[in-house]
Amino acid sequence: MYKKNENIEIFKERLFYQKLTIIPAIIAIIVGRFFDNKFVYFIAILIFIGIVVFSLFNWRCPSCECFLGKELRIKFCNKCGCKLS
Ligand SMILES: [Zn+2]
Repeated sequence: MYKKNENIEIFKERLFYQKLTIIPAIIAIIVGRFFDNKFVYFIAILIFIGIVVFSLFNWRCPSCECFLGKELRIKFCNKCGCKLS
């Protein structure tokens, strides 16, 4: 268990990394649209799988480590009630 302020700091960091995943997602969508090519689709799918796997590890409550769900704008952990922002 971390202290309250540490939880918020860790959450901020995780939120930052979570927001960064939008960049490869957008690149994958754009590239997938402009290149009608099976190899490009394959790479795009790999990128999406990578983002999902990364999110499963990253997007967790700093206090209880439960998955935080789809929503990025959350203030409290649904499971342990820990304050996140
Ligand atoms: Zn929690």
